[in-house]
Amino acid sequence: MQRFFAKINDDGSVFLTNEDERHLVSSVRIKVGENVEIADDGKSYLAEVVSTSPLKIKVVKPVEFEREIDSKVSLAFSLLKGDHNELVVMKGTELGAYSFYPVISERTIVKVDAKTEDNRLKRLRSIAKSSAQQSRRSLIPEVHGYTSYKSVLETSHKIKLIAYEGESGSSNTLKKALEGHKKDEDIIVLIGPEGGFSNKEVEEAMKHGFKPVSLGRSILRAETASLASMAVIADILSE
Ligand code: SAM
Repeated sequence: MQRFFAKINDDGSVFLTNEDERHLVSSVRIKVGENVEIADDGKSYLAEVVSTSPLKIKVVKPVEFEREIDSKVSLAFSLLKGDHNELVVMKGTELGAYSFYPVISERTIVKVDAKTEDNRLKRLRSIAKSSAQQSRRSLIPEVHGYTSYKSVLETSHKIKLIAYEGESGSSNTLKKALEGHKKDEDIIVLIGPEGGFSNKEVEEAMKHGFKPVSLGRSILRAETASLASMAVIADILSE
């Protein structure tokens, strides 16, 4: 079944983009009575084509099986060299991330102008969209603009975690950090760059309410650390 991100009006009619509308009418040659799936604002719906010229689609009912994980989990990953940022956004979206913050930390090697929305960011947003579509997500994760370390420490997430390889041991696991977590509490996980966080950065984060967590005994590459933390959190939250 064809699936689209679209706006649903109060009367249940679906507002598609011109591009999606053209795709359904000209390429798919959709017919009256056929169904499509519509995702809007984190929820998915079954909808039916009621006319093709002009194209009109109406929602029939919500999709019962919801693919979104119950809590909003944001990955704040220090910007990496090469195409590793793309990997984090693509796979992080598949794993259920709610949003991404590309962070500029002390040891970030890549040079970017924090005030610009460059092609790299555009590409990351387009990857988030296609990956969300591919994984049949009900929302497209937001890729925020480049975020300074100071700003990411000040976000208002209820649960703030910093992945820190200096924190090994069974008392600092993600599972322990999320004990007693409630569905409506949003989570942010901060991951360091290739060279890791400085001690000063970890201390600063802790002053801002971030809890250091271990991702196991071995030192993971930064992109692995982002994806491993997302996978483990999604698993814990679906228990
Ligand atoms: N500073 C380290 C070094 O060069 O020895 C490596 C940093 S690691 C490549 C990049 C980031 O991944 C770290 O800043 C941390 O956020 C995360 N990370 C990697 N392994 C981890 C682990 N075992 N526990 C927690 N975080 C980890």
